[in-house]
Amino acid sequence: MKRNVTLEEISDGKLYTAGDLVKADCGGCKECAACCQGMGESIVLDPYDIYQLSENLQMTFEELLAERIELHVVDGIVLPNLKMAMGEEECCSFLDETGRCSIHAFRPGICRLFPLGRYYTDDSFQYILQIHECRNQNRTKIKVKKWLGIPDLKSYEKYIANWHVFLLDVQKEIEQSQDEGLRKQLSMLVLREFYLKPYGEKFYEEFQERLEIQKRKSIVH
Ligand code: SF4
Ligand code: SF4
Repeated sequence: MKRNVTLEEISDGKLYTAGDLVKADCGGCKECAACCQGMGESIVLDPYDIYQLSENLQMTFEELLAERIELHVVDGIVLPNLKMAMGEEECCSFLDETGRCSIHAFRPGICRLFPLGRYYTDDSFQYILQIHECRNQNRTKIKVKKWLGIPDLKSYEKYIANWHVFLLDVQKEIEQSQDEGLRKQLSMLVLREFYLKPYGEKFYEEFQERLEIQKRKSIVH
């Protein structure tokens, strides 16, 4: 999702890599679950998130869509996001009655990052510490990679960077096209090719293959 803000407005102004220490550790969040409520459509899910949810919950994309996720348009592209429950508090459907995340071990990438964010440059990204998001003002330092807790982080980071570039390319095509039919086709292409078809055991390799296929097609250059 594109955001028209400066680094200084939303972060401590520094860029971090996986090996850096950052003041992000909320110490288990204690009684707080603020960032699991009222998030609207903002927890957008990438294909790895859906792969993790599907594998661990043994649910197809369609089954997730019936209960846990929903679709919305992000910069012209139809993408899934975590569904917040109806009602005053609008809690994430994975928040349990004790205020804890019931899928902590395989929670989506945006949840893992929080209160960190990503700052993309060309075909890579670094991490930022968002300063207005987390309610805990007494956070302690932790290494970025430990905070994320993602196995094979190198492959994950490469995948995230490639995914971001691909989405930007599709968005550009949609913006520039005068053909309404093609725009509609492109807006659904990402969902069809990267989310609806289940992945096997080697997610990163399979994802890369799908990406190469789309790049070879003239639809996305
Ligand atoms: S998946 Fe877990 S961490 Fe993410 S918003 Fe839902 S309850 Fe919170
Ligand atoms: S706002 Fe901060 S302390 Fe509260 S749940 Fe989110 S990350 Fe944890």
